[in-house]
Amino acid sequence: MLKLKEIVIGTYNSNKKSEIREILNGIPVRLLDLDDFENPPDIIEDGNAFEDNAIKKALELAGFCQMCVMADDSGLEIDALDKRPGVLSSRYCGEDTGYEEKCLRLLEELKGVPFKKRTARFRCAIALAEPGRLQFVVKASCEGIISAEPRGDKGFGYDPVFYVPEYELTMAELGSEVKNRISHRALALELFKTNLMELV
Ligand code: IMP
Repeated sequence: MLKLKEIVIGTYNSNKKSEIREILNGIPVRLLDLDDFENPPDIIEDGNAFEDNAIKKALELAGFCQMCVMADDSGLEIDALDKRPGVLSSRYCGEDTGYEEKCLRLLEELKGVPFKKRTARFRCAIALAEPGRLQFVVKASCEGIISAEPRGDKGFGYDPVFYVPEYELTMAELGSEVKNRISHRALALELFKTNLMELV
């Protein structure tokens, strides 16, 4: 059976990387990231589900690094937009468009949609692969409502427009201490840790 001592965090997103490091802090495994490798490949995320993309990224990067790699795919699903932007969250309005603009464009699309119908969720899938073999994949989500206007300056991405009813604040107002307990990524990482502990 695989005995895990090191894992590469397979993401180029520095915000995600620091959230993952913060949440996995204390596990008995050394965490490397893609900065530790020369010219890691850009993986084309062409799956229809977060899970498919996470598995593809983990397997391809494990092959490249010749090590165990964890990779996540995540995004925002909005019910009133038929689950868009979904797997295309980072490409919504074009990859080079900043998040301030992306958030405003989403709010524009939702203009006139009442609060009760602005339900949404962040989803996250995390896969762990060794070269040539998927170890496991876990999934989690975090429910919320798209706010009427952006609020808060913490977090990243769509956090300023993602209102969490339980706290009556947007994810960008909550701060990392709370976010890293309730978010889709935090919940998926808890499942990830449970599965991982069987391999270390
Ligand atoms: P990918 O998983 O790197 O393909 O991109 C996921 C995209 O979903 C991010 O670039 C953000 O746009 C969005 N996203 C994922 N997780 C979060 C989060 O925790 N807060 C805000 N936006 C997120």
